Amino acid sequence: MTFARVIVDVPSKNTNRPFDYKIPEKFESVVQPGVRVIVPFGPRKIMGYVVALTNESDFDKVKNLSEVLDVTPALTEELLHLGKWLSKQTLSYYVSCLQVMLPQVMKAKYRKELWKLTESPLDSELDRVFDGRAVLDYEEFDASGVSYHTLRKHIDDGEVDVHYEVKSRETKRTTRMVQPALDEMELLGFLEDLSKQAKKQKAIVEYFTEHREPISKKQLLQTLSTTSASLKPLIKDGVLKEFDQEVFRDPYQDREFERTTPFELTEEQAEAIGPILKTIDREQHDTFLLHGVTGSGKTEVYLQSIQKVMDKGEEAIMLVPEIALTPQMVERFKGRFGSKVAVLHSALSAGEKYDEWRKIQRKEVQVVVGARSAIFAPFSNIGLIIIDEEHETSYKQEDRTRYHARDVAIERAKRHHCPVVLGSATPALESYARAAKGNYQLLTLSKRMNDATMPDVEIVDMREELHEGNRSMFSRMLKEKIEDRLTKGEQAVLFLNRRGYSTFVMCRDCGHVSECPHCDIALTFHKRQNRLKCHYCSHEEPMPTECPECESKTIRYFGTGTQKVEEALEQLIPEARVLRMDVDTTRRKGSHERLLTKFGNKEADILLGTQMIAKGLDFGNVTLVGVLAADSLLNLPDFRASEKTFQLLTQVSGRAGRHEKPGEVVVQTYTPEHYSVDLASEYDFDRFFQEEMRIRKAFNYPPYYFLTLITVSHPNQLKVQEVTTKIAQFMRQKLSDQSFVLGPTPSALTRINNRYRYQCMIKYKKEPEQRKLVERILHYYEDEMKQENGLQIIVDFQPYQ
Ligand code: ADP
Ligand code: ZN
Ligand code: ZN
Repeated sequence: MTFARVIVDVPSKNTNRPFDYKIPEKFESVVQPGVRVIVPFGPRKIMGYVVALTNESDFDKVKNLSEVLDVTPALTEELLHLGKWLSKQTLSYYVSCLQVMLPQVMKAKYRKELWKLTESPLDSELDRVFDGRAVLDYEEFDASGVSYHTLRKHIDDGEVDVHYEVKSRETKRTTRMVQPALDEMELLGFLEDLSKQAKKQKAIVEYFTEHREPISKKQLLQTLSTTSASLKPLIKDGVLKEFDQEVFRDPYQDREFERTTPFELTEEQAEAIGPILKTIDREQHDTFLLHGVTGSGKTEVYLQSIQKVMDKGEEAIMLVPEIALTPQMVERFKGRFGSKVAVLHSALSAGEKYDEWRKIQRKEVQVVVGARSAIFAPFSNIGLIIIDEEHETSYKQEDRTRYHARDVAIERAKRHHCPVVLGSATPALESYARAAKGNYQLLTLSKRMNDATMPDVEIVDMREELHEGNRSMFSRMLKEKIEDRLTKGEQAVLFLNRRGYSTFVMCRDCGHVSECPHCDIALTFHKRQNRLKCHYCSHEEPMPTECPECESKTIRYFGTGTQKVEEALEQLIPEARVLRMDVDTTRRKGSHERLLTKFGNKEADILLGTQMIAKGLDFGNVTLVGVLAADSLLNLPDFRASEKTFQLLTQVSGRAGRHEKPGEVVVQTYTPEHYSVDLASEYDFDRFFQEEMRIRKAFNYPPYYFLTLITVSHPNQLKVQEVTTKIAQFMRQKLSDQSFVLGPTPSALTRINNRYRYQCMIKYKKEPEQRKLVERILHYYEDEMKQENGLQIIVDFQPYQ
């Protein structure tokens, strides 16, 4: 083939199609669909993805490819097609969709440079910056203070050019290896010829007459306590040879995983796994919803289904929410499948992630366990895709390419003719509704393993506590139960929902609240640094000593951050050893694991934390779970508030009494009568589903209607209002009867980083129709959206997952 069709790495409307490049002879054997290349594009060189090869080009002037970055294609043909599909689904550029499938390090970074093309002097200022050099780092120019206008003039005159150099951040690691170049007989012969003085060489040759395998140079020299000087002559004489071997960084190399064997399945498990195995056998696509209470043995069902896939020589993708990808979870997969498992999650370094990804690409593993983006694992023979905790919000990517891993999974499974298993104790309403309609096949595990029961849940009405004069954030019952565990040497987990809470600063005299000057939001108080920070932009300031409004000194911080709970706990039960786990204490790599290990070793009595402790934890000694404020989620302006509350309460309760000792749960709330609190305490998913579906129907919410959220932002508030109003009007006019357009309304955070945000929400039945309309809107505002700091329109299909 003569030409390569390339999608260049410039996300824009004009470049959202392939460009043709001629393939120079030297690259002919390596250029194939899916490889990354460097191509000239206008005055610069940029990265691109080959999507097809062709013998003819419709373009007149076709330039040569400059560089090929891959030998093995970075993207399989299936992934190239999937990217196309994804681009249609999310209305994002094709290249952005290809990007989202690759590890961070494979997305090339560019260095911007200025090239002086002439010998004659430039503007004196600019000449001083160049300082006799021919190439100048753009950053240096930027910092020099010379005006862009001056630069522009020279560029227009053809005296200076802007170049983009690809700065690859790929970090392959290699190690130097040594191995014999002669066969055994030849080696022995050589050994006899060695003179007496060559004692060291003799030792090396002796070593290799015994060991024929390559060994790392470093290790060899260490073993024989010699230096590379003694190795050199042997390599020169052609007795040994050296080569570089790629080494994979293995984040788990220091860990021993105890091998486990499959359990004999219970009757319920056997019934659930039957249809899955059958589908794997037939290589047919089907979507299963495995609804099983926590501890009912879902994971064992996953493991045995995966085993079947591996026995067939096929591959499996296992998705787990980021925060549930705990060491315990990894252990279960590594323990069962050993080195056939790759693990992908955000706590790995960029290099480690790249290496895990390469193991998948090189087919050294058959299973990947990973968070959301692992759905794009470059396997070519997928036999099963599993999504555990399928209701989790983290499966939806919330920026740029707004995909949902569940949708991608089903799409990939169709292409591979393999089943998808969605598992959860509290399935998303949409999924359960699809199962109820027969679109998904419902499989149920209703009993916990080993006859364990779900813990009893006590609901405490915090209004009553207040009535009785208890102003603390701990009810009397919770306090008593914590103390009881302390005396028994058992442990407790206290859960505080992070969302909906912040530690804001308020003046008690005039009610003034410290807000970010750039965003419409209260600043959060950080006690350790005694500073106020905005969580939406980078603004921070010192904690004021007096009110900026009325100069009163009675300025206090409010709210119930984990830090504040920790302090209250210290006062209430001073003898308790508390471990706090939140974004602040888990920022550093590995700290998450360290805290959990500490708790597991019983070095603390109480684990206090946010969302991140709600999942996956499995400690036998935890017999009490306290939920400090169950309402914090209910009060979010989100139609899923009840669903999320139900899911969270159920998850948290599942953390107690997982082993022999029975567990108890105390839920503190100001709205004990709310059905999601009440039904979660009874573990009654079916009734919750009925109740919630009734409400969704009455208010035209999913799963009865599709939703699209359009958010408009711009530095000028009037402009935002105007555009959003126009969009809403257009949608009202064009959409058919069964739709509703809500808004425009200011977004919950009306101003972020000095940009105003308004939104409108569309509820609709006919998907293709409204998608076309949205495309027209984006097309209409295209020019305004291109301007720097200009209009931004964000379209989110199926928001608030
Ligand atoms: P889930 O994923 O639904 O929370 P798990 O698969 O973690 O449930 O199972 C709960 C516990 O029961 C685990 O400790 C697991 O090892 C054990 N288990 C699972 N299946 C069986 C079985 N068939 N026989 C005995 N123990 C089992
Ligand atoms: Zn004041
Ligand atoms: Zn801010």
